[in-house]
Amino acid sequence: MFSLFFGFVLLPLLISSPCLSARTTPIYQDRTLPAKNYTYKWQNFEKFLDASRGSQVSDMSELKKYFHHFGYLKVEEEMNFTDLFDEKFELAVNKYQAKLGLPVTGKLDSKTIDQIMSPRCGVRDVPKMLHATRHYAFFGGQPRWDRSIPMTLTYAFSPVNLITSLSLQDIRDACKRAFGHWASVIPVTFVETDDYGFADIKIGFYRGDHGDEEAFDGVLGILGHAFSPESGRFHLDAAETWAVDFQVEKSDEAIDLESVATHEIGHLLGLAHTSVKEAVMYPSLKPREKKIDLKLDDIRGIQALYGSNPNFSIQNLSESDLSSNYAVDLRIGSLSTWCVLLLGLVSFLCL
Ligand SMILES: [Zn+2]
Ligand SMILES: [Zn+2]
Repeated sequence: MFSLFFGFVLLPLLISSPCLSARTTPIYQDRTLPAKNYTYKWQNFEKFLDASRGSQVSDMSELKKYFHHFGYLKVEEEMNFTDLFDEKFELAVNKYQAKLGLPVTGKLDSKTIDQIMSPRCGVRDVPKMLHATRHYAFFGGQPRWDRSIPMTLTYAFSPVNLITSLSLQDIRDACKRAFGHWASVIPVTFVETDDYGFADIKIGFYRGDHGDEEAFDGVLGILGHAFSPESGRFHLDAAETWAVDFQVEKSDEAIDLESVATHEIGHLLGLAHTSVKEAVMYPSLKPREKKIDLKLDDIRGIQALYGSNPNFSIQNLSESDLSSNYAVDLRIGSLSTWCVLLLGLVSFLCL
């Protein structure tokens, strides 16, 4: 009887379940957070390190609001979140970890807290509480610019909402390069225009509450946001130390304009956040980090919406762009059905 049970139930489980074996052998045990030269916007979330289901830590409600803001936790009565790490919050943490390509532990381990505190894009990761994916994603309804291919989109800078720490020419050049990354892979041309009122894409730097219910929050934290097609609104947080050259801008809090612009243009074209950490459409960007090269995940996503630029060839991608994507593909490929089922169950329970 036992051998039957072992053969038909236990053995297949033992063979096919990396998730189960991962439980007995922790994926990593580093409980310390990496040292940083800058002050985190969400620095106070550090105190939640190692919290797990059943923990009660003061102000955990603030962290729940953060999870709610980025689409992982449904709103409770009048946003009245408690400080208890309950089952619902555990599911939200699982979902966050799955979406951001972190080990799914359901606990606020160091990798998760480090990710939570990192500066990032203000756009929600899970726009309509969709299931977690492990690659590129679209906004609900899969919107794109509805024009015949090849298409031209115009963009303009706000004549009033600009910053003075960079010259307009530097800003224009950085954005031109950012548009160029996307234009090289899809049959879409971007042309700058002086006619701000009629431009398809309107770029501006804003502070705090600026009338679209997505207030900016000062230095670091949220860096910028952009809206899905065909809104064209592309907003950057004027409070950041924007940089186009880290040799010139020495601040520890400097944020690379071209990197954020490349990411936000992905949203303007219809891409939501990806789970692939190396990709441009991953939601976070560290100060002094440059991330401007589209990865295979970004390219697959955007070409699914617009098709390929006839001049684009996969050979154009550098070896590192390809290898990081292959590594991701292999990792995804090795996930067993059990992990996929577990993710599906988590998503189902959250709905
Ligand atoms: Zn984003
Ligand atoms: Zn805005």
